[in-house]
Amino acid sequence: MSPFVNIHTHQSHIDNKEFIEIYNIDVDSHVNVDVTFFYSIGIHPWKCQQSTVNGPIVQWLNNSTAIGECGIDRVCGIDIEIQKDVFIKQIGISEKYNKPMIIHAVRSHSDIISIRKETKAKMPWIIHGFQGNEQIVIQYLRHNIYLSLGDVLFKNESRAAELLKIIPTERLFLETDDSERSIVDVYEKASVLSGRSLEDLRSDIFNNFVKIFGKI
Ligand SMILES: [Zn+2]
Repeated sequence: MSPFVNIHTHQSHIDNKEFIEIYNIDVDSHVNVDVTFFYSIGIHPWKCQQSTVNGPIVQWLNNSTAIGECGIDRVCGIDIEIQKDVFIKQIGISEKYNKPMIIHAVRSHSDIISIRKETKAKMPWIIHGFQGNEQIVIQYLRHNIYLSLGDVLFKNESRAAELLKIIPTERLFLETDDSERSIVDVYEKASVLSGRSLEDLRSDIFNNFVKIFGKI
């Protein structure tokens, strides 16, 4: 049976063959660099005024699985040009070092898509905590972008059911983000709302993970 993949979490990491998770490390956190679990490292849009891109991220890059979470947040109040600049610099690192990106996008889906076009980025991007509508899904799919669902499964079941219908499983991930819930609950909920078996979800999402990250 394939492991449960949790593509984005801020909670503790588990060391258990039944689970794979990408633990999000903030660029300014003081976690030991020699960690052995999968992690993403990046500058969150909320922090893009305090953190500098190059030094700290590059230090962490060798063992990192992904760059992130980074992106654009049009609600947080930080100057949009500063956010774009910090995001684009991280895209540069992602492309140069072949690290996929985990993206935070709040009311900024069209920004993300235009930046994808402008930068001609080729690495896989995963929009985490996705809750957008069908039109946005179609655009992301067209640009080879993956979508990860978490909170929406519990907070807006009808939207989540609709999303599960239109996002092909080969572009889907599931996550716990900063919630306390277990990733098993997230998969069970997605299984109920989509009518797909838990086994199928596990193996399809695990295949996505292997396809993007090429390692387990
Ligand atoms: Zn997060």
